Amino acid sequence: MGKLTIVVPAFNEEAVLPSTIATLTKIEHDLIEQNQIAENSDILVVDDGSADGTWAAIEEQHRQQPSVKGLKFSRNFGHQNALLAGMQEAVKSAEMIVTIDADLQDDPNAIIEMVKDYHEGADIVYGVRNNRESDTWFKRTTANGFYKFLNLLGVRLIVNHADFRLMSQKAVVTLMQYQERNMFIRGVIPMLGFKTAKVYYKRTPRMAGDSKYPLKKMLAFAWEGITSLTIAPVRLILVLGILAFITGICMMFYALFAKCFGATVHGWTSLMISIWIVGGLQMISLGVVGEYIGKVTTEVKHRPRFTIEKVLE
Ligand code: UDP
Ligand code: MG
Repeated sequence: MGKLTIVVPAFNEEAVLPSTIATLTKIEHDLIEQNQIAENSDILVVDDGSADGTWAAIEEQHRQQPSVKGLKFSRNFGHQNALLAGMQEAVKSAEMIVTIDADLQDDPNAIIEMVKDYHEGADIVYGVRNNRESDTWFKRTTANGFYKFLNLLGVRLIVNHADFRLMSQKAVVTLMQYQERNMFIRGVIPMLGFKTAKVYYKRTPRMAGDSKYPLKKMLAFAWEGITSLTIAPVRLILVLGILAFITGICMMFYALFAKCFGATVHGWTSLMISIWIVGGLQMISLGVVGEYIGKVTTEVKHRPRFTIEKVLE
């Protein structure tokens, strides 16, 4: 049976860590008993530069049971980086890697089903919440709007899936080949391919402590998602420019017509024509420059051109 590592990012989570680790340990214990995972399975907590006693709590838990391991960032590098660091470390030895938030809002019992799906051949198992009642109206509405908007821009996200998932070693190795510095993990995972599965669960309110995602961080995260997953906004400039230019041509005919048949003020015609046509040309030029910048953006990410799943020799 393969080794499972549960990666837990933690930023100022001293209030929840002990009980979180106890719950996750119990789940791993049960899975070991059922012969689903290896005995050396462990939990890796990534302290994302916490200012409270998070690291001390991790050390304390490690003393009590060596299957609890820790990574400590030198400062706060953010949730996504904490996840990546944990996965990068875990992939060295684990066959299955689960990522879950420290507050256990995502039902840890779903891990049992994820492991089952893994054994049935899935390389990526998405945890998908089937309710949003524990969220405020505001968070619910903005989250839904965000999915719709990204979908409109051509980015396919798994609706109601955050960063609670199981990945096989193979899938994580592939993820690590995506070398962009600003990685919006849940947007990149669907690009990896492989066989996927979904496990549904009910998301509950936070056990203790406050959300580490205030509105400001959430907006920054959403913006990060848009700008790192798509160059559609740049394309939009080009389209708007072309529309403005076509409008300009129409305006030109209209303005000349109006001038010939009387009713215009002196100077209006030339102003009207130049505002629209020059404006349109400027936007088209911006769009063209943007298209090249978009190309550069895609190039510097150094994403793999393809991923080979199997070879038959
Ligand atoms: N987190 C982190 N670094 C940060 C912010 C959050 O590692 O800068 C962790 C946090 O400890 C938790 C997870 O990311 O394990 C999700 O955060 P939180 O539960 O506060 O977000 P919410 O559920 O409110 O969206
Ligand atoms: Mg939470």
